[in-house]
Amino acid sequence: MYTRLKKENKIWLSSPHMGGKEKMYIEEAFDTNWIAPLGPNLDLFENSLSKLSSNYHVAALSSGTAAIHLALILLGIKKDDDIICSTFTFAASVFPVSYLGANPIFVDSERKTWNMCPNLLEDAIKVGIEKNKKPKAIILVHIYGMPASMDDIMCIANKYNIPVIEDAAEALGSKYKSNPLGTFGKFGIYSFNGNKIITTSGGGALLSKDKYNINKAKKLATQAREDVSYYEHKEIGYNYRLSNVCAGIGLGQLDVLQSRIKRKREINSYYKNELADNNNLFFIEESSDSFCNFWMTTCLLDNKLTIDNENLRLDLASYNIEARLLWKPMHLQPIFLNCKKYINGVSEDLFSRGICLPSGTNMGQHELDRVINRIKKLYAS
Ligand SMILES: *Cc1c(COP(=O)(O)O)cnc(C)c1O
Repeated sequence: MYTRLKKENKIWLSSPHMGGKEKMYIEEAFDTNWIAPLGPNLDLFENSLSKLSSNYHVAALSSGTAAIHLALILLGIKKDDDIICSTFTFAASVFPVSYLGANPIFVDSERKTWNMCPNLLEDAIKVGIEKNKKPKAIILVHIYGMPASMDDIMCIANKYNIPVIEDAAEALGSKYKSNPLGTFGKFGIYSFNGNKIITTSGGGALLSKDKYNINKAKKLATQAREDVSYYEHKEIGYNYRLSNVCAGIGLGQLDVLQSRIKRKREINSYYKNELADNNNLFFIEESSDSFCNFWMTTCLLDNKLTIDNENLRLDLASYNIEARLLWKPMHLQPIFLNCKKYINGVSEDLFSRGICLPSGTNMGQHELDRVINRIKKLYAS
């Protein structure tokens, strides 16, 4: 096995994939000495993101988590407020609720999109209202790039007049009825962490139709400095701005975003076609309203089999192929066990039999075939 590991290079789940121009933008930052959380790359990066997002206003930030935190602050969220969250997500979409001492209320997924179930969302809101504690916001996630059922979700959110923060950290470039995700709610957020569809090494963005909110976010993200010549502070600030150097990486990455999405979608179709005969594996499909960036190709295993998702993960790992189980739902996390929840079993089922397959756009055809052949062999044995 040792020789095999040495011979065949590691296939990662999804690693950074530079486009080529990133270094040029970084060098520009060095040459002009804009090595700061402001500068021309940052402005350009925000403008380019805005063009991709229905000309919404954009603040580029140090992380997606910071963007969610600022969105909650701008909505005036305080200690003990109730915030509805998708349970099937990465913890970073919920942690900022805890930063503010507010309470996450977890809502389970629907089968169709794996995202927040509209019926359970309405149940959660109604119970809150009956108890005289209407939820103050909804943090809605588009998991693995798949658009949530936006018509249904927004209809409910508008009916009860509750603001939506769209966590589109994994969904840059995905669309619902031709509109970019992140532009449906009062706020949208993106992440540019190392494993996302494009990266700034670490970074994020907050977007909103409302210019005032984004200007306020930029101020809060630079230690809430007042606009006077000396350092004056009337409110608590944060150090959350993206640096001009990292924004340079982002500019290079935006140049190749469309080709990355195209490749992610090709990878997804290739897995589906090649594994179509395997009746033990099920792949999620887009609805006719949705365009998914397929940041990650995922599949569910038949639970009647002896090979479960952890067996598959370990088998692939022994061939130097990185796969990963799906997100463990938030309502099962030790830190959130005491939170209120509205559960229908879907996210628990996804976690118990789902897996993310290597989806990196820098994988060559040979590597993709290595993954597929290994899966085929495992099921044939
Ligand atoms: C990555 C991610 C985040 C956090 O983004 P960071 O930039 O890593 O802080 C939030 N929500 C989801 C669903 C994510 O995948």
